[in-house]
Amino acid sequence: MQPVQTISFSADCDNSAPRGSWQSQLSGAIRDPEALLAAAGLDKRWLSGAEGGHQAFEVRVPQAYLSRIKKGDPNDPLLRQVLPLEHETHAVAGYVTDPLEEADHTPAAGLIHKYAARVLMITSGACAINCRYCFRRHFPYEDHAASRAQWGRTLDYLREDDSLIEAILSGGDPLVSSDARLAWLVGELDAIPHLKRLRLHTRLPVVIPDRVDDAMLEWLSNTRLQKVMVLHINHANEIDDSVMKACERLRGVGVTLLNQSVLLRDVNDDVEVLRALSERLFEAGILPYYLHVLDPVAGAAHFDVPDSEAGALHDRLREQLPGFLLPRLVREVPGERAKTPIQA
Ligand code: SF4
Repeated sequence: MQPVQTISFSADCDNSAPRGSWQSQLSGAIRDPEALLAAAGLDKRWLSGAEGGHQAFEVRVPQAYLSRIKKGDPNDPLLRQVLPLEHETHAVAGYVTDPLEEADHTPAAGLIHKYAARVLMITSGACAINCRYCFRRHFPYEDHAASRAQWGRTLDYLREDDSLIEAILSGGDPLVSSDARLAWLVGELDAIPHLKRLRLHTRLPVVIPDRVDDAMLEWLSNTRLQKVMVLHINHANEIDDSVMKACERLRGVGVTLLNQSVLLRDVNDDVEVLRALSERLFEAGILPYYLHVLDPVAGAAHFDVPDSEAGALHDRLREQLPGFLLPRLVREVPGERAKTPIQA
């Protein structure tokens, strides 16, 4: 299996978009630490630490997500996911810029083909939110911008490999791309007979729920492909009524909703917090799928929960939840053909 092509749309930030639209919310996201601290009701004592992390991986937080953060609480579990801390500037042995060695699977950039029967397409280099623990925080997205000809060759690669069953749109976040572009791409995928499934990995319906609008539901409705959306939610507080509504609309057009979380120190490293997350996910019609341990990416070591502790937490969670609400505790190991389960 060899990846061959670049396939990346840039973010479709649109400063002329109607006020309140998802595009204007995307353009209007907070992009500097000082503004984030002010919006979170925190004083400037946090600023010097935040500036260093921001230089390495810029702050980005949309208003809809910000509105769920408790003001004046530096320990708020949603704030901790987006506020750079001084720890990010510390070099820690074993924490690297490409923890999953994806560069080895993307010699021509943009298309990652390391698992059987499915390929991952880097559909956008941008996100609506920048999560401090992101394993792609150092990914060279600028090397992955695609020309129209490259898009054509990428799709040829998918057409020519009839072992492929599933196309995965990832990023960045694929849903920062415009509906016109996504409708075109999904139409091209739809026409490849051996493809059965379309999977999207996205955080946008969570961080800007208005992204799930009529235009998006239209291209999702028009494809013959089975649709799976893997959301990324780490704490029950991320699911407010607007997220519930967005999930309901997605399910209404036949999208199967799954969730993957990352186990994060001081965010969700607690049995009761994880139990509440699974319960809340199910209320929103989302099945808990994976609970990942942290990928060792440079700048995120302060979020780490050791495997032994993660396994013990997961065992206690198993005692509290029915099996269908228990996410699989896994690690992604470079070179492995599937995720690796973690035992206590
Ligand atoms: S790829 Fe996902 S985890 Fe990483 S910054 Fe974007 S939304 Fe956050």
